[in-house]
Amino acid sequence: MSAALETVIGLEVHVELSTKSKMFCGCLNEFGADPNTHVCPVCLGMPGTLPVINKRAVEFLCKAGFALECTVAPFSKFDRKNYFYPDMPKNYQISQYDMPLTTGGRVVLPSGKAIRLNRIHLEEDTGKNVHAGGHMTTSEATLIDYNRAGVPLMEIVSEPEIGSPDEAEQYLMVLRDVMLYIGVSDVKMHEGSLRCDANVSIRPLGTKELGTKTEIKNMNSFKSVVAALEHEISRQHACVASGERIVQETRGWDEVRGLTYSMRSKEQAHDYRYFPDPDLPPLSLDEATLASWRSELPELPAQRRERFITQYGIPQYDANVLTQSRFDADYFEAVASASGDPKQASNWLMGDVRKSLEAHGLTLSTSKMTPAALGELISMVKGGAITGRAAKEVCDVLVAAGGDPKAIVEQRGLAQVSDESAIVAIVDKVIAAQAESVAAYKGGKAKALDFIVGQVMRESRGRANVDVVKRLLMERLG
Ligand code: ADP
Ligand code: ZN
Ligand code: MG
Repeated sequence: MSAALETVIGLEVHVELSTKSKMFCGCLNEFGADPNTHVCPVCLGMPGTLPVINKRAVEFLCKAGFALECTVAPFSKFDRKNYFYPDMPKNYQISQYDMPLTTGGRVVLPSGKAIRLNRIHLEEDTGKNVHAGGHMTTSEATLIDYNRAGVPLMEIVSEPEIGSPDEAEQYLMVLRDVMLYIGVSDVKMHEGSLRCDANVSIRPLGTKELGTKTEIKNMNSFKSVVAALEHEISRQHACVASGERIVQETRGWDEVRGLTYSMRSKEQAHDYRYFPDPDLPPLSLDEATLASWRSELPELPAQRRERFITQYGIPQYDANVLTQSRFDADYFEAVASASGDPKQASNWLMGDVRKSLEAHGLTLSTSKMTPAALGELISMVKGGAITGRAAKEVCDVLVAAGGDPKAIVEQRGLAQVSDESAIVAIVDKVIAAQAESVAAYKGGKAKALDFIVGQVMRESRGRANVDVVKRLLMERLG
């Protein structure tokens, strides 16, 4: 029997930076355009052309570095990584080898565990091979779209400190949230603006030395990263159990079959014949520039989450959900201030608003409901202008079509009715119609009263003041 084994994972995450133009030329950096419409002699690798560094990309990477507590180097350089592949027209990729823009840093998981970073470096993306099955391909052809060639790309390399597929997913989520907050990428895994290579090995529990790793590629969702890692870990366990040696190699993830397969034996750094790019000057950043970029960083998700919990007294879970995107967090704060009731703001956003958004296929950012309108709706419920039940209906209208809650209440006749004479009639009608429930209640079944209250509310279209309804019912049923 082998001793217990532990999992060791290190992730290499590629994030496309959402600059207007590409890394070394003026072509548009835009996803989804017609193939080969955003190309020029520079990003097509024509001889005699010269690259020019995109300052915005450098700024974005430095901001990511500051947000992740990295050390940003005032002096770094670009190198050529040489290899041949059709999606790379120059036959080398401009990257950073031994002097990356940042070193160190860490990603703090929700559990509090910190995963240290090795480095973040700046490089250019490759073009995209469009294999058979794409809309322009015949069954045998592979076409190439160079729109992506030269798009600014940052590679975030973790230390091998991630302990499970679950932690790997959390790590990716934290990275995604941070990038969204600082606005340097749209980090969409299904569009390829966030990509991840997962390195994994196993070793006897409690030992320090790293086991032989494999590197998995081709996952295109957080779910597939988890699935691929789980599969690969059990494959490595089976290897060890049967006395086989784990081979260092690159493995692909087959989403359909749910397994990893050997792609190629792992190349070594010297295979790439890195050398400094003679066409690019070293990158020198002065203190003042770095300081001003650092000062432009917003409050980050983890800090904001803590502040929400202490300042507004909302539960950790709610704070997690509400701070996932900067837009949603801003929205929550605006509703909290408009309504003067942060807890209710959170309850509505986590509950009825979320349900309505889902039903209409919307998000807070695509819905026409303004924070001011939701804030006012909450105030109207608190002030007794409408019942909570009628407010749900108004909320749904707001989510779907926007508008002013007062006007919607008026149009739909949803104002709360507290006038006894109006409610008495409905109460008597329901008592007459629900003889069975009334008998059950009188016979000692307390629950039957809730049902009768519900019927009165329904009959009043949710407008009757519940307290008045209950009082009138008690008076009549004893
Ligand atoms: P390579 O030279 O193969 O590219 P690196 O040392 O550059 O390897 O590391 C690449 C990634 O693999 C890093 O994220 C690192 O944390 C991770 N890694 C390195 N060794 C291991 C290992 N034995 N098990 C798991 N992950 C590893
Ligand atoms: Zn170009
Ligand atoms: Mg490496």
